[in-house]
Amino acid sequence: MSEAIERAADILAQAKSVVALTGAGISVESGIPPFRGKGGLWETMDPMAVAHIDAFLDNPKRVWELLIKDMKTILDKARPNAGHTGLVELERLGRLQTIITQNVDGLHQMAGSSDVIEFHGNFAWQRCLDCGQRVSTAGINLAQIPPQCSCGGVLRPDCVFFGEMIPPAALVRSQRVSAACDVMLVIGTSATVQPAASMPFIAKDNGAVIIEINPEPTPLTGHISSLPLMGGGVSIMPRLVAAVRKRLNSP
Ligand code: NAD
Ligand code: ZN
Repeated sequence: MSEAIERAADILAQAKSVVALTGAGISVESGIPPFRGKGGLWETMDPMAVAHIDAFLDNPKRVWELLIKDMKTILDKARPNAGHTGLVELERLGRLQTIITQNVDGLHQMAGSSDVIEFHGNFAWQRCLDCGQRVSTAGINLAQIPPQCSCGGVLRPDCVFFGEMIPPAALVRSQRVSAACDVMLVIGTSATVQPAASMPFIAKDNGAVIIEINPEPTPLTGHISSLPLMGGGVSIMPRLVAAVRKRLNSP
């Protein structure tokens, strides 16, 4: 493993434009369960029954009770871990420009990363189904499920449900930075949710090297990602950042 980290550090130290693509796995060590993989929510729930927009519109109360209420409790407490702060360090070292995240937890921004594309929205906000008003998730009252807007409409998380479009600006910019980078760092994603999963393909097609951090192999491993660093973000990222720092002679 240390040899793979050294090789990845060589590549990052020489890179001109680096983009990170992150998924639920980077936040697992902040106490947020992923959807897939070990301990994933889909071991006990059917995604189409709770995370599809049709399921929500059909019965918002049920989806709030089965999924969104617990998400709020978990996300309210979550704080960035060494995976998130490692990306902030890489940015300070001039070795990371943009993060494309599939996560809705806001932990990259909380850690201090400055350019984060939120591919699937952000759970910090709710939107009224009737009048479109946005309200902060922190302020909503869970005594009433589903929570309601002041107009009486039902509130929904400002996140992308299955069956919904990716915000066009986020999609277009992600495609653009993926095509332009010379290294893509893919961390904690099962690389199965489209169109996010196509970003490493776009990067690779345009000549980028793909470095992957994940304790489990993914459909990208050894095929699109030429450099898999097999392990969790909290164990790998600080070692990778230290190795990059050494090459740049940065204190
Ligand atoms: P996923 O749940 O499909 O896959 C998680 C991946 O993380 C797996 O490949 C797993 O092996 C890996 N992993 C587990 N522990 C890890 C660790 N400690 N370090 C690094 N990797 C680890 O996640 P996905 O690919 O992001 O797709 C799921 C969708 O669910 C996303 O679109 C996202 O919007 C949403 N989601 C978000 C959150 C969040 O905001 N934190 C949490 C759950 C799901
Ligand atoms: Zn309203």
